[in-house]
Amino acid sequence: MEICVLIKQVPSTDQVKIDEKTGTMIRSDLESELNPLDMYAVEEAVRIKEKNSGTKITAISMGPASAEYTIKEAISMGCDEGVLLTDRKFAGADTLATAYTITQFLKTKKFDIIFAGERATDGETGQVGPSVGAQLEIPILTYVNKITKITNENITVQRAIEGGNEVIQTTLPALITVVKEINEPRLPNLENKLRAKKSKIKILTNEELKIKEDKIGLKGSPTRVVKVFYPKISRQGEKIVVKTSQEGVEKILMYLREKGVVS
Ligand SMILES: Cc1cc2nc3c(=O)[nH]c(=O)nc-3n(C[C@H](O)[C@H](O)[C@H](O)COP(=O)(O)OP(=O)(O)OC[C@H]3O[C@@H](n4cnc5c(N)ncnc54)[C@H](O)[C@@H]3O)c2cc1C
Repeated sequence: MEICVLIKQVPSTDQVKIDEKTGTMIRSDLESELNPLDMYAVEEAVRIKEKNSGTKITAISMGPASAEYTIKEAISMGCDEGVLLTDRKFAGADTLATAYTITQFLKTKKFDIIFAGERATDGETGQVGPSVGAQLEIPILTYVNKITKITNENITVQRAIEGGNEVIQTTLPALITVVKEINEPRLPNLENKLRAKKSKIKILTNEELKIKEDKIGLKGSPTRVVKVFYPKISRQGEKIVVKTSQEGVEKILMYLREKGVVS
């Protein structure tokens, strides 16, 4: 079985700062890491490999040259190889252009399952995975929290829906986005860490991919960030200092009663 996992390099902080004038992310001084939600996708792929001998997992990322280290993080968790799609011409891509570039590479490759994270912790659109599936015209299963059965032809999954779960079966190849309830990502072991360190990531630029330039990067991106800003908090807060949680509950209840919020 051939499995691809889409992974993204994200700033390793939840304190992402935005330049309010340009609307772009301030990337200087930020360390990068594998998108935390992609670890669940990697882990699920590795679990399938452990149960199905002969399975190969390829971690794929589109990003700057530094994303090579992120791909190595995925290899240290158990992926077999990595591919980095990197080119100045890919810069400024919105989700459509990002998915298009990844799709053009995937069209050159054999795969049974493509895994993606639910969303990236920086862009947070959750669009890239489903968009890749749509562009490849394969079934897309989103919010998957359990894989119940895989055969050579089919996959059965449980996906989270509002107020419950639903079980779906589809044919392979398929694209699956996973939620963090699906598993507990492993810590890399020493053997895989060493393997990742030595591994050679396949680097592909647009010289090799030969994608039309009006489909990639800024030129291929129909959406633009018009404005990014922090919400201004105009409300005045009130701090209630208490010694015990019981006292806190009583004071808050008293406050809410005074305001007529609770009777
Ligand atoms: C309107 C708009 C304009 C933008 N303009 C710019 C810009 O000018 N410059 C800029 O740098 N960025 C820009 N971005 C951000 C850029 O589009 C996103 O970072 C990128 O397309 C991924 O989207 P996301 O972060 O929302 O990922 P999501 O869609 O939330 O990610 C979901 C999953 O898709 C996969 N995935 C996502 N991105 C990648 C990737 N690059 N490689 C492999 N797998 C991936 C991962 O599995 C991830 O868990 C823009 C975004 C938007 C919405």
